[in-house]
Amino acid sequence: MSGSDDGPTDAGGAPLVQETITCIDCGGVAHLMSRPDDTGRFWPGDLIVYRCEDCMDRWDLIVPDEGDGSDGRPDW
Ligand SMILES: [Zn+2]
Repeated sequence: MSGSDDGPTDAGGAPLVQETITCIDCGGVAHLMSRPDDTGRFWPGDLIVYRCEDCMDRWDLIVPDEGDGSDGRPDW
């Protein structure tokens, strides 16, 4: 454990919001473009945007709920 406290994690301990994700289209690295709010973190239900550095595709994601099984579906 690093002891860092930079945001919520899911049940497996992974951050809910990662700095980079794997592009679904090309397998490249997509970088987080959104900024957290003034609390310095993202919250379940927030819209976060990634852009792939390879194909420049944009990926809009909703921060998932914190893994407690409650209704975390986006409402759009
Ligand atoms: Zn891509």
